Amino acid sequence: MKLRNKINLYTAFLFAILLLIINITVYYSFSKLTLDSELNTAHNEMKKISGNIGKSLGTISEDILLRSYVPVNGMIQIVTKDKNDSSPYTSPGAHDLSKRESVFYSNEVSKAIEYQDRLFSFESMPIILQDGSIANLQITKSMETATNILSILRLVLIMVTLLALIPVLISSRILSDLITKPVTSMIRTMTDIRESGAFKRLKLEGSSKDELFQMGQTFNHMIDLLEVNFDKQKQFVSNASHELKTPLTIIESYASLLKRRGLKEPKLFLESIEAIHSEAIRMKEMTEQLLMLARHHEQWKIELNELNISQLITQTVKAFKNAYNRDIEFVQKNHTPLFIETDEKKLKQLLFIFLDNARKYSDGTIFIELGHDQDEVYIKIIDQGIGIHESDLPKVFDRFYRVDKARSRKQGGSGLGLSIAKEIADAIGVLIHLDSVAGTGTTITILSKKVKKL
Ligand code: ATP
Ligand code: MG
Repeated sequence: MKLRNKINLYTAFLFAILLLIINITVYYSFSKLTLDSELNTAHNEMKKISGNIGKSLGTISEDILLRSYVPVNGMIQIVTKDKNDSSPYTSPGAHDLSKRESVFYSNEVSKAIEYQDRLFSFESMPIILQDGSIANLQITKSMETATNILSILRLVLIMVTLLALIPVLISSRILSDLITKPVTSMIRTMTDIRESGAFKRLKLEGSSKDELFQMGQTFNHMIDLLEVNFDKQKQFVSNASHELKTPLTIIESYASLLKRRGLKEPKLFLESIEAIHSEAIRMKEMTEQLLMLARHHEQWKIELNELNISQLITQTVKAFKNAYNRDIEFVQKNHTPLFIETDEKKLKQLLFIFLDNARKYSDGTIFIELGHDQDEVYIKIIDQGIGIHESDLPKVFDRFYRVDKARSRKQGGSGLGLSIAKEIADAIGVLIHLDSVAGTGTTITILSKKVKKL
């Protein structure tokens, strides 16, 4: 069954049950109150009549007395123990009552009885006759007025129940439309996406900011993210294949050169082997970097240990100076040893990525500054090189992004360094800030939580 029909059915059914329960309770309470009050009135009247009859029995004949007390729609009768009853006196509309068998009671009786499908109040009161014997004065009175009122009430309540169901049905229809419309539109959009393979969004109408609207917004947001990721992925694959194509082309052209003239020209042979070798190394490095990026952080086997950061930087600077023969100045603000909890190898790799950039994109001295405030330790890598233009700043962390393609290619860059740095920083829980002004220089700040020593 469709959601819409389910909502309609359940709401209407629940409301009908609720209305029935309310109306039945109202009807039964009202009918009980009415009938009790009728019986009460009949009983009070009976008390009065029996008193009057008891007093007047000697003076006025029994026949006249009973006749004068016949109820409007009922019967009065004196019933004796030995069944020597006087004939009953009935009102014009209640002659049939006289056919009802009379019963002698020793006590007072006040009850409602049903006779020939009509409801009567029945009152029986012991009285003392002239001869001293005990008899019952019995009055049976129709409760037609009350039953008429009750049947009108019944009719009114049935009508009210049926009428109240109309707005319930209408509102449940509106409600089901309200709920199912966005859902069906979402299903339609999803089917469209599946069939066409294109990213589509929901049309969000109306000003209401309810949960369904939020669901639509979330769906659109999710599609936005998927599209961005999909585009990035596409870009990545095309960039990666483009990057690998260049060294492969170089290798191929040198290899064919070798095939044709390599044996005859030793100089060409050496040059070709050299080029093939260096391109193969570049490709190997690039694939290693790509594999690292493709792997999830959990597979990186991060080992967090308490580390003396000043020591680590000193070692790194020494190694870097030896490898590239560049001026690097390490400045530590206050000379107390600083400790952070991190993965030593990964932090070293991070420092290498930034130092490598500073080396490639500047010619002067590179500065490394180490300091701390209350909770954090900061490491700044400062160069006074070419800097990065403001419009390129948000993109430099993207994979394969290089500001000056020709220049960084010449320097062997593939545009993966900073994206790897971002992944490493996320994995070891440090923050990276990049401040750069084109033509002035670049400052990279690494922020890490300080381990407090007592
Ligand atoms: P790779 O690091 O993979 O060898 P790369 O250095 O070109 O190559 P990234 O380290 O990701 O790649 O840097 C991206 C780009 O950002 C660089 O190509 C360069 O244009 C710019 N860049 C990065 N660091 C600096 C810097 N310190 N000064 C100037 N430009 C920089
Ligand atoms: Mg780099």
